[in-house]
Amino acid sequence: MKLPTADAVVVGGGIIGTAATYYLAKAGLRVALVERRGIAGETSSACTDGLLLQTKAPGVKLAMARASIRLYRQLGEELGCDLEFRNEGAMITAATDAELEYVRGLVERLRGDGIPVELLGGKAARELQPALRSDLLASTYCSLDCHLNPLRVSAGFAGAAKRLGARVYVGTEVTGIDVQHGRVVGVLTSGGRLETHTVVNAAGVRAPEIARMAGQKLTVIPRRGQILVTGAIRPMIRGRIIGARYLMSKLGKAARSEENPRAYSSGMLLGQQASGNVLVGATREYAGEDPSTSHDAITDLARQLVQLVPGLADVQIIRAFAGLRPATPDGAPVIERCSEPEGLVVAAGHEGDGICLAPITGKVVAGTVGGRIDNYHQFESVADTR
Ligand SMILES: Cc1cc2nc3c(=O)[nH]c(=O)nc-3n(C[C@H](O)[C@H](O)[C@H](O)COP(=O)(O)OP(=O)(O)OC[C@H]3O[C@@H](n4cnc5c(N)ncnc54)[C@H](O)[C@@H]3O)c2cc1C
Repeated sequence: MKLPTADAVVVGGGIIGTAATYYLAKAGLRVALVERRGIAGETSSACTDGLLLQTKAPGVKLAMARASIRLYRQLGEELGCDLEFRNEGAMITAATDAELEYVRGLVERLRGDGIPVELLGGKAARELQPALRSDLLASTYCSLDCHLNPLRVSAGFAGAAKRLGARVYVGTEVTGIDVQHGRVVGVLTSGGRLETHTVVNAAGVRAPEIARMAGQKLTVIPRRGQILVTGAIRPMIRGRIIGARYLMSKLGKAARSEENPRAYSSGMLLGQQASGNVLVGATREYAGEDPSTSHDAITDLARQLVQLVPGLADVQIIRAFAGLRPATPDGAPVIERCSEPEGLVVAAGHEGDGICLAPITGKVVAGTVGGRIDNYHQFESVADTR
């Protein structure tokens, strides 16, 4: 079967693929989005919800996060959808001398990058967040940090793209990319063939498979994150709380090596949902493509939770789930127009930052497809365009 011709085909309906589809449709292109499961059927629905400047690696990632959060501020209205966007700030807590030294360095670095971050003593931190442990040494606070509902964002992008004329094929798998004389000419799917000259590879942890279909090599490694969910409780946590250990595990050198291929680390990332449930994340582990949870990790997270927020010692854990972060060897995303084959664009490898970076990534993809930029290092020239 032959499906209608598209100017661009986006592979993957996670938050990155739906953002790309929306901004391409907004630029006036005939876009088709192909998703083998449902919208946000994989990592983008198995994650937490932070738009956190404090957790971003310095340099271009931090700058992109700022631009993306600016876009998010008006995105709900633009998409016609309540994204549950909240600007309630976030704290990075320090409970040991080593963590205190780490957050001091972090505050200095972030201030140097122009991010307004305060360093609070333990008492002041508890005034802001009374549920925290009484012997806390210190905490940062950044009022610019936000959170929202990633499922609503993905659905919002897909819905708005459809209204702009995009075609969205769910339950449809991409099985091949037709490349002739060094140029993309079509995409093969379980629902038929799409004629196109442009493919956007936004397949998350499966982006390497899509790259192979176009004769290219791309390295994206699944980095599992396990999360606990508590029962609904009275409001106890405002904004987002991140234990310094979480950030040390996120921004530290990847501990994975040939000797330790399943390297494991974990730390606290807490947030209370509008429903009253608290999400308690998360681990960082290399477990291949296995999205299951483990008893050891659940116990580890529960122990850390009780240490950081003793008032939650009796709370019920009602479930646990895991998502696979699409990680790259150097920790940087791959958002670029490939030199070969002509017509291949990649938007993958956002690891633990894909929710935050989705809008700016969508704009960069539209900029590369439109020939205005080559990759995300030039994101500033498309960040403010409508
Ligand atoms: C525990 C955890 C906590 C996190 N917390 C945060 C956070 O607080 N803030 C933040 O910014 N980020 C966070 N992240 C990271 C964020 O969730 C990811 O970076 C983001 O969801 C990746 O989106 P994606 O669209 O690239 O991938 P996905 O959401 O996985 O989307 C890829 C899609 O491609 C589809 N696909 C694959 N192969 C094919 C094919 N052959 N044909 C058709 N479709 C295909 C898949 O079905 C999938 O739906 C967290 C992640 C985890 C696991």
